[in-house]
Amino acid sequence: MSEALVYRICPIDPGGHCFRVTLEIPEPSPTGQTLSLPTWIPGSYLIREFARHVLRVRARSGGRAVTVTKIEKNRWRLGACRASAVIEYEVYAWDLSVRAAHLDPTHGFFNGTSVFLRVDGQHERPCEVEIEAPPALTGASAWRVATTLPRAGARPHGFGRYRAVDYDTLVDHPVEMGSFALGRFEVAGVPHEIAITGQTDVDLERLCADLSPICEAQVAFFEPRSKRAPFDRYLFLTTAVGEGYGGLEHRDSTALLCNRNDLPYRGQTGLTEGYARFLGLASHEYFHAWHVKRIRPQAFVPYDLDRENPTRLLWIFEGFTSYYDDLFLARAGIFTLEDYLKALARTMSAVLAGPGRLKQSVADSSFDAWIKYYRQDEHSPNVIVSYYAKGALVALALDLEIRRLSGGTRSLDDVMRLLWQEYGRDAIPGPGRGLAEDAFPGIVQQASGLDLSAQIRAWAYGTRDLPLAGLLAGMGIELIARPGSPAPVLGIATVQRGAELGVRTAYTGGPAHQAGLSAGDVLVAVDGLKVDEKTLKALLERHRPGQRLRVHAFRRDELMEFEVVLAAAQASEVSLKAQSVDRATGAGRRSWLGRAGGLRAGSQSQKAR
Ligand code: ZN
Repeated sequence: MSEALVYRICPIDPGGHCFRVTLEIPEPSPTGQTLSLPTWIPGSYLIREFARHVLRVRARSGGRAVTVTKIEKNRWRLGACRASAVIEYEVYAWDLSVRAAHLDPTHGFFNGTSVFLRVDGQHERPCEVEIEAPPALTGASAWRVATTLPRAGARPHGFGRYRAVDYDTLVDHPVEMGSFALGRFEVAGVPHEIAITGQTDVDLERLCADLSPICEAQVAFFEPRSKRAPFDRYLFLTTAVGEGYGGLEHRDSTALLCNRNDLPYRGQTGLTEGYARFLGLASHEYFHAWHVKRIRPQAFVPYDLDRENPTRLLWIFEGFTSYYDDLFLARAGIFTLEDYLKALARTMSAVLAGPGRLKQSVADSSFDAWIKYYRQDEHSPNVIVSYYAKGALVALALDLEIRRLSGGTRSLDDVMRLLWQEYGRDAIPGPGRGLAEDAFPGIVQQASGLDLSAQIRAWAYGTRDLPLAGLLAGMGIELIARPGSPAPVLGIATVQRGAELGVRTAYTGGPAHQAGLSAGDVLVAVDGLKVDEKTLKALLERHRPGQRLRVHAFRRDELMEFEVVLAAAQASEVSLKAQSVDRATGAGRRSWLGRAGGLRAGSQSQKAR
């Protein structure tokens, strides 16, 4: 076995948000070893240029300084080395998100993609990492470490030595250090932990009691016979803040960011919307441990961390995960049927409200995620569809279609289990593995015996609305879409900045767009009266579709006048109602929704405690 690369990371200056990293390379290339830092982090499809926060890269070899030359935006070359080399550099860490690194006197967090230089050509070498405590920081004696990197000398939750079999593994294990709260539970014999950073009075016991059945249901979903999880341990690394939301998946952990008020406090009962959102996020990232971390699109095998890795399949990897995250809240008994239908209706309303769904397919949205979905601007709602939200609805449509055509004997669950078998559990790792761009319809056919290629083409590669009303009716669920309000609309989204009411987006084809108004315009007066968000709403409520309004607005510093013909609001507010059903439909509903499918409203979430 080759000698390990040894990384040391020290929160050298928490107040200045600075980590110092050293890297020992036992056998650097004698002709000029190059080192690089990823430009993006898997799971978040945007080039983030982590190298912009790396500074003062120095190197020594055989007791002498070695030159370090920057040769690309994220790559350095060492001068000739005769023996092992030691590289030292600093990383500025002040990004409070799940995607990068953050350090201050209250805690430290990092993803390896932000802090660990890659030794080009030596990606397969084992890595060791010494995680050091901050020197001379008051209160740091109470700091612990949370990560699923295997220990190599460190005590449980202690500073010290950890290891990884290669670079890819090293950077797939985020690390938290600080005085976090820690909850524990076990699923399928595998220890699970949740570490919570940030001031909270969270009810850890309840949190564990609610996460546990969600995790259990997912393990049993992918491995109904053996009920074996694909990891030895799992960690929910959670940072609670005043305002924030996000999650990033890893192979045996996840980094989550949430509002502290979304977490259940001691003595709280019932399921708040915020807590349901948090459990949905945790469920989403846990599902990814199978679906995208192990079952991967071919484009991600291996990840190319230097550049974009486009694939048209994010609607499968993110959309299906978004479908199953809430579905598992229902199957685990956290959601009642009414809770689940409300969440589903919200997703449907969000998709229907965006005119971009008629211009972009979820397959194209996936491919262009790097430059469109992750880089949204004022025009995005007109031209982009979310491969998360519409992808989840495509999953719903496929699931219900398979159930309908197979008489309830097959479902999307079978497709997921076949994907797991073919591309996850039994897959031989290595380049070229992973779901090919055109392989999905074949997988569906193999799992269900049904040829759904025409449906997949229309729903994922086309832009027509999905036939959800009919499919849901088969489950005894009525879909009603109506306007959010009876008042007519201008066809704009607004933003109130101080006293100014700005146009955030002018919807393509809407009354404002047709009259010539644009995103960025500042509304001054409507029919001669000064407007803000509230008065504009009141004014619209007094009008009818077809009536004309005189709008004054500033574009840049020029006053302009527009005549807008009001239109009726579109029917984009969806509600779903469960009808009473016969035995056969009831059985179908239970097979689809698990515990939520068989019970009436009320109760199950209250059992937590
Ligand atoms: Zn996701």
